[in-house]
Formats: sequence, structure tokens, C-alpha cells
Amino acid sequence: MSEELAQKLSYNLLHSQIPHLLKSFDVITLTQFKQLYTTNSSENKLENIIIISSTSGQGELPTPIKNSAIWQFFKRKDLPNDFFAGVNFYFLGIGDSLYLKFQHAIRILKLRFIDRLGGNLKLKLEIDISGMKGSGSVEMVMPQFIKIVKDYIVGGEEEAKEYIKDDIYISMGPTLKLGKPEKESTITNDDSTVDEWIPSKIILNDRITKEDHFQDVRCILIENELEFKPGDTISILPSNEESTINEFLKLQPHLKQYLNDELTITDNGETTTTTLHYLLQNKFDLTSVPKRLFFMKIWNLQETENEDEIEILKQHKQKLYEFGHSDDDYDYLEYVYRPRRSILEILYDFSFIKLPLKYLLDIMPIIRPRQYSISNSFTEENKNAELTVAILEYETLLFKKRLGLCTNYLKNLKPGQEIKYKINHLHLFEKIEPFIMEGVEDILLISPGVGIAPIKSFILEGEYMDFNKTLYFGSRFASKDKLYGDLLTTLSTNKDYNLIYKCCHSRDRDNVIDGKQIKYVQDLLWKEADYVYDLIFNKNCIIYLCGSAGQMPTQVKITLASILEKNGVQNSSEYINDLIKQDRFIQETW
Ligand SMILES: Cc1cc2nc3c(=O)[nH]c(=O)nc-3n(C[C@H](O)[C@H](O)[C@H](O)COP(=O)(O)OP(=O)(O)OC[C@H]3O[C@@H](n4cnc5c(N)ncnc54)[C@H](O)[C@@H]3O)c2cc1C
Repeated sequence: MSEELAQKLSYNLLHSQIPHLLKSFDVITLTQFKQLYTTNSSENKLENIIIISSTSGQGELPTPIKNSAIWQFFKRKDLPNDFFAGVNFYFLGIGDSLYLKFQHAIRILKLRFIDRLGGNLKLKLEIDISGMKGSGSVEMVMPQFIKIVKDYIVGGEEEAKEYIKDDIYISMGPTLKLGKPEKESTITNDDSTVDEWIPSKIILNDRITKEDHFQDVRCILIENELEFKPGDTISILPSNEESTINEFLKLQPHLKQYLNDELTITDNGETTTTTLHYLLQNKFDLTSVPKRLFFMKIWNLQETENEDEIEILKQHKQKLYEFGHSDDDYDYLEYVYRPRRSILEILYDFSFIKLPLKYLLDIMPIIRPRQYSISNSFTEENKNAELTVAILEYETLLFKKRLGLCTNYLKNLKPGQEIKYKINHLHLFEKIEPFIMEGVEDILLISPGVGIAPIKSFILEGEYMDFNKTLYFGSRFASKDKLYGDLLTTLSTNKDYNLIYKCCHSRDRDNVIDGKQIKYVQDLLWKEADYVYDLIFNKNCIIYLCGSAGQMPTQVKITLASILEKNGVQNSSEYINDLIKQDRFIQETW
């Protein structure tokens, strides 16, 4: 969401004729930042920095910030306290107040840029996507944020230049041009910290759920040499299939002629070359559900030469304008978001859209990497990284099934095929301070579904063998999707692993205790309330909860609080919240 809001702000600044540069932390290189910051030209001097960020995980900086070269630079101890003296900062945090460490990331960023590096705090607003805390919901905060930022930058409404009407396409983004660059490519990159995609191969790609089970879950092994720890993830950058590219070209036939021609990308004065085919395959997220910004940009890029169609064209323009610009997002939600309509389907329905080659990079959403928890452990004998991937396929009111881009890309990769990846060191199991770990002997592991991935890595890791581990795992059927069931059963009978393995299956009918069916992990935890209470309260165990976001993490938290309460602990919800604050209760949910 931060990217979308940043682009919305940028759109508004652009139409208000306020020059600026929009970059994601992980895209701007140290060289580019230093050039900007140390420029001698007073016209281009960096005076205002706007930072928009969500909070990820349990109060952490998002990975693109954490791993970026410039963040590593700003964290350096040798930077002077007045490094950002004279630079105005505007912060917009995006968070969900249902999470305990609400808006933690934007506070970390403010601490660094203002309190440590001497920047000038002009504004800090906090959006709560649950709409209850902070400065309010997106709809309430965003117009306010844009207005205040603009007023500060231009010095009030009287000073403001005229707003350029929305029907004029203006872009600051990268442009595409047929042919070679006029000058030699000017891309420079001296950042030793910018991490590159690592080329590798698929070793194994096996389905680990039964063929007749509704969900395909894969165990995928990737050739790897780099060290990793339990809790680390691998980023994968998927690409579009040839059939998707052909579908796009059928809908935008005027672009077909350029498919394999050399194209020059110009972005902030720097040039590189590419082909349209490369962009369609690797860059443009053709099957994604477009954000409102997409419509803000394309609504007027519709045309027809047929006189009889002029009225329909007007209606189409009106409709797409509303999807992008209307204060009320009802129509957008109903037509685009709820049915998860893809860009290709929108191009089909609105056949007057003619995307100009020049602005494709500005208009089309870009494919983002997806993260997957590594599910094995790294040893000198076996360095390869294993992923456990639930292939995403679901239905909406539309006829065609929706397919997750990355999971279906992974599903189709055969052993021996090439893949590019990055390792993210998230330190999930290492973030507990040594003094908290002192004396801890027990670990409570809770992981329904593919949440088992990081947990399995933890169980297999030699370093954690000595802990007494109790695992609560949940799936639908014992016979169909009990992921790694045989392996975990074997490990639980091997004393070296110190593992107690408990399972429940929501669709099996035989697990009824005291007339109540044990469906989900929270039911099983409740059934074993005394045991769980002993682990948490008497043995001071560490809790790890991994799996899909949504209802499950909240349900588990409520259940744990109820278990404590049942055993006489007062303010049990606060007790659980304290465990989270102290990193004794760690969640990795997605
Ligand atoms: C730290 C971390 C670790 C992760 N580890 C794992 C892991 O080990 N294994 C794993 O399988 N995944 C894991 N994920 C999730 C993974 O990154 C991807 O988000 C997931 O695989 C989907 O990617 P995709 O490209 O196939 O789907 P996309 O094309 O990105 O589509 C996903 C979108 O589809 C929509 N959607 C999904 N289901 C429905 C539905 N039923 N109804 C309506 N809309 C729906 C949602 O809007 C969702 O955002 C992890 C994520 C994070 C952040």
C-alpha cells in the first residue's frame, strides 16, 4: 500500500507542478543518493524528503528498506549528528492497529532521520488501515497529508502553480523509445551493498499433498551455496508465461510490431536498453489486479476512429475516470477489486484503451518479488534451500479461476530449469535477547498449513536440538495435507530432536472430544489447556506462531489468553501482549 500512496502523492505533486523524485528505498543506489544530496545546484538541492512506510511482521522495517544500500548507509555510526541539518522530513506511516507494534517502522525511521541525523521534522501522520487509531483511515489522512506537504513545499496556496488538469497525461517516470540510446549507457552503480539476484537451478519440485486434495502444495529444492538460518526467507521474482504475453499483444495489437526491437529506457537522465518482449515477460504484472492509480493514468488513453463509437467511448472514459479519481471507491471495488479482475480482463472489457509504448513503464504495475520461508536447515553436506509453497488458485464471481502469479510460476518449473533468487536474513529465531533466553528450555511451536515451513527448519537445526519443542500443527485431512507428517512423526520418536508433535485436521470427523470437534490449532491448544499453561506460565517458554495471516493469529492469541485466564492469570491479554513486546511470542504470518 505504501507504494500506491507514494505514487498517488507523486501524481498530485506532478499535476501541481512540484518537481520531485519518487524512488523505493531498494531501488535508489547510494551513488544516486549522494549525487542528489551533494548537488551544488541550488535549484536541484534536496530540501524535502517524504517517507512513506508500512510496518511489517511484528514491528519491523519492510524488507526493501531493511536490505537497501541507503538504509545500511544511514545506520552507520560515523555519520555526523547534523547530517540532515536543514532538510525537512515528512513521514506517513501505514499500519494496522490490531497489531501490537502499530506504526513501529515509521517511528524507527523518524528516530534515525530526525533524532539521530538532525533532520527537521515537518509532519508525521499515521494511517490505520483498521481506521480506529493513529491519524485515521487512508481516506481521511491522505488528502490531509498531500495538502500539508504541498503547502509546506510551495509556501502556501497563494504561491502554488496552477493544477494541470487530469486529462493531460504527464509523467516523470521512465520512458521508452525505439532505438539505441543517443549517448552511451549512463547507468552507474558502485554500491557494494546492493544485492543481486543469484542465478540457480531447480533440483526438485514435488507435490506433497494428495492428488485428490483441493490444494497443491509443493516442496521445491533450489541449488544454493549461501548460508541461511531458520526463519530466513528466499525471494523469488516470477515472470509471465508466453501465453499471457500473447494475450496482452492481442489486446494491444499496435505494440506487437516493437516486440523484439531494441528500446531505450530513460529514467532520471540514465539510459539502458531492453526489448518489449523482455518487459512483458519479466517486468509488467499483466495478471495483477490494478490499483486505482492505474485508472488515474489510463482513463484518457482511449480512442476510436469510428464515429459511431464516440458515445460509448465517452462512457468508457467516464467509467475509468471514476475508478481512478472518484471520492467514492464503490464502483472500483465492485468491478475491479472484489472479483479480482486482472489488467488483461480490463483491457478486454475496455477495448478502446491504447497504451502508448512511451509510457508503458510508467503505467504498468511492476512484478514484485515474493518471499518464501526456507523449510530445511543448512549443513555443510546439504546447502540447498528447500521451500514449501502453497499454489494459489481461487474462484471469484468471474468465470475464470484466479491463479497466483509466483506460485503458479514455481509450480511449472521443472528440475534443471533456471531460477533467480535472493536470501533474506530475517533472524526470526535469533531476535530474542540472550538474557531472555537464559534458562529457557521449552519452545511452543504453532503452525497450521504451510506455516510449517520455518518451523520445520527450526526443528531440524542442530543449534536448537536441545530445546524441548512442542509443535501444534493443523491441516484439513490427516491423509491428504499433513505436510511432512511422516518426517515429523519420525523426528518426534528420535530423542535427539526433543520434539512432541500434535496435530489436528479440520475436515476429519473422528477428532471429537467431550462432544466438541477439534478442528483448528486453537481448539487443540484449548483442549490441552493445562499443558499449554504450564509451558507458558511456569516454564516461561518461547512461542513461535507461523502461517497465513487473517483470523488464525488472532484466534490463537485469544485462546492463549483464555488458557491463562482459566488458570487464574489476571489481565491475561496484557500478559500475552507483553510476551509479544518482549519478543518471547514471535509471529511470522503472511
Ligand atoms: C515473510 C513471508 C514468508 C512467506 N512464506 C511462505 C511460505 O513458506 N509458503 C508459501 O506458500 N507462502 C509464503 N508466503 C506468501 C508468499 O510470499 C506469496 O504471497 C504467496 O505465495 C502468493 O503469491 P502469488 O504470487 O502466487 O499470488 P499473487 O498473484 O500475489 O496473489 C495473491 C493475492 O491474491 C488474493 N487472494 C488470495 N487468495 C484469495 C482468495 N481466496 N480470495 C480472493 N483473493 C485472494 C490476495 O489479494 C492476495 O494478496 C510468505 C510471505 C511472507 C511475507
